[in-house]
Amino acid sequence: MSETSKSLNFIEHIVEEDLRNSFPKENLRFRFPPEPNGYLHIGHASSIYLNFGLGLRYNAPVNLRFDDTNPAKEEQEFVDAIKRDVEWLGYTWDTERYASDYFQQLYDWALILIKEGKAYVDDQSSEEMATQKGTPTQAGTNSPNRNRSVKENLALFNQMKEGKFEEGTHVLRAKIDMTSSNMLMRDPIMYRVLHKAHHRTNTDWCIYPMYDWTHGESDYIEQVSHSFCTLEFAMHRELYDWFLDQVYDENKVRPRQREFARRNLSHTVVSKRKLAKLVETGVVSSWDDPRMPTISGLRRRGYTPESIYNFTDTIGIAKRDNLIDVSLLEFQIRNHLNKVAPRVMGVLDPLKVVLTNYPEGEEEWLDAENNPEDDNAGSRKVPFSRELYIEKEDFREEANKKFFRLKLGKEVRLKNGYIIKAESCTKDTDGNIIEVQCTYDPKSKSGSGTEESLRKVKGTLHWVSIKHAVEAEIRLYDRLFTDESPDTHKEKDFMDFVNPDSLQVIKGYLEPHLKEAKIGDRVQFQRLGYFCVDPDSTTEKLVFNKTVGLRDSWAKIAEK
Ligand code: ATP
Ligand code: MG
Repeated sequence: MSETSKSLNFIEHIVEEDLRNSFPKENLRFRFPPEPNGYLHIGHASSIYLNFGLGLRYNAPVNLRFDDTNPAKEEQEFVDAIKRDVEWLGYTWDTERYASDYFQQLYDWALILIKEGKAYVDDQSSEEMATQKGTPTQAGTNSPNRNRSVKENLALFNQMKEGKFEEGTHVLRAKIDMTSSNMLMRDPIMYRVLHKAHHRTNTDWCIYPMYDWTHGESDYIEQVSHSFCTLEFAMHRELYDWFLDQVYDENKVRPRQREFARRNLSHTVVSKRKLAKLVETGVVSSWDDPRMPTISGLRRRGYTPESIYNFTDTIGIAKRDNLIDVSLLEFQIRNHLNKVAPRVMGVLDPLKVVLTNYPEGEEEWLDAENNPEDDNAGSRKVPFSRELYIEKEDFREEANKKFFRLKLGKEVRLKNGYIIKAESCTKDTDGNIIEVQCTYDPKSKSGSGTEESLRKVKGTLHWVSIKHAVEAEIRLYDRLFTDESPDTHKEKDFMDFVNPDSLQVIKGYLEPHLKEAKIGDRVQFQRLGYFCVDPDSTTEKLVFNKTVGLRDSWAKIAEK
C-alpha cells in the first residue's frame, strides 16, 4: 500500500515538528498495538493506516505488538486473525512483538521500584481500595499498607508470583500520589494475581502486569519513538510518563504518547467487547460474518483492501470523536468494484418468459461485454433460448409511461440479446402472474450490425436462460442495527437495536459460467448490485453475498 495522500494530518505535523526540533529521523519507530481479545474492526483500520502510513512516509519500522496482558480474554485465534487482516490490508510489519515477551523485564523493573520505595503490595479488598481512591473532586487517602517495608513488599510480591495467593487478594501498586488531581495517579495497580493460563506463557506466571504499566515500558523496550493511541488514554499520559521516568536511560529514545480520535461507524458498534457479544449470543454467525464491521467480515462481504484504504484516507485522522456514516464506506467499495468487477447477469426473483416464436430446442451463445469500464476486461458468451427468467418486478400487465420495463403490448431489449414484446401472460389461481408469453424480433440481435440491432427501445432488462442457469444461494444484508449509533443510548442497551431482518437468504439463477467462480470472486449482477462468492460455497452449492447495491446513497446525501 503506498502512502499517497498529500496534505499532512495533525499527527504527521507532530512528527514533522519533532524532526525540525532535531529528533533524528533514523530513530523514528512506530507500532500498532492490538490486544488479541477479538478480531480487528473498521476502527482499527484507522489506527493501522495511521501507524503503518507513518512508517511508509518516513521509511521507519513499524512493529506489530500484541498487547497480551489479560490471559482471561486473549486467544491464539485472535492473534492469527489480526495478522491475517493486517497483511490483507496490505501492510508489512517490521517485527512481531508480544507484551508477554517482556513479562520478565517488567517484573525485574517492578522489583527495582519496590526497592526504591516506589511500589508496594496492598492486600485490602477492592472495595476498600475504591473508597480510599476518592473522587475527581475529593482527594484520596493512603492505604494502611502504603508504608510497608521494602523487605516485606519483596517477600509478598514474591509470594504473589509463586502463586501463594488467591485472585483478587493482593496487588502491587505504584506509590505515586493519593491526592493527585488525576485519579489515575492515585497509586495505580501495576500487577494483579490471576491463576489463568496465558496463550503464550502458559502457566509461567500467576501475576500479570496492568495495561498502563505494560504499554509504555513495551514502547520503551522496542524503542518506539511515537506511541499513538485513542483519546480515552489522554489522562493516562501522565502515568505513561511517570512509569517511563522510573526506567528511562538518557542515551535511549524516550517514547512519547499522543492521542487521536476513535472512529465510530454509523449503524454498527466498533468495540471488540460488543462485537464479541454479537458472536456469543448468535446474533451473527461468527467474527467474520459479512454483517460484522470487522476487517474479516468486510472481506467476506466483498470489500477490497483498496476500498478500506480509500475510506480511512478520506475520513483522515481527527482530534475529536465523531460518527462516520457507513454510506461513506459503501461509496468506496462501490467506486472500486465499478472499475474492477465483471458484469454478469443473475435473476433473483424469477418470472418465466416464453418466446413463442423462438424455435423449441434451439439455443445460441451471445456476446457479452465483461466490463464497459475496463477496456481489457474482454467479453464472454451467454446462452439464449426459448425460456428465460426475468425479474418479477420487471413485468407489469399495465403501467404508466414511466415504467420502462416490460408491459403487455410493449417492447424492451434483453441485455446482450434481442428486442422482445410481451403478448400475453398466465396467472395462478390466486391471480399471481406466473408466465409471460413474448415474441422476439429475430433481426434485433445486439451487435449483429443490422438496422434492427440498433433500434432503440426504452428499457433494457437482464435475464438468464432457464435451462442453462446455475442456481445459487444468495445472501442479502441489511444494516445490523436499526439505530444510527446503537451504543450511545443511556436507557437502552445496544443489543436492543439489533435489526432482526439483517439477513435474507434467497435463491438466484445465474449465467452458467459462474459455476467456475472461486471463493472471494467479485462480480456485478447487472442492475442489482455487487456480489461475491462466500467461503461457504462448495462444488455442489454456490453461495453469493451481496456486497453493496448499485445506488449511490452517499452521493444523494452529499448533494443535499
Ligand atoms: P476495542 O474497544 O475495540 O477493544 P481497543 O482500543 O481496546 O478497542 P486495541 O486492540 O487495544 O482495541 O486497539 C489497538 C489500537 O487500535 C489502539 O491503538 C487503539 O487506540 C486503536 N483503535 C481501537 N479502536 C479504534 C477506533 N474505533 N478508531 C481508531 N483507532 C482505534
Ligand atoms: Mg484495548
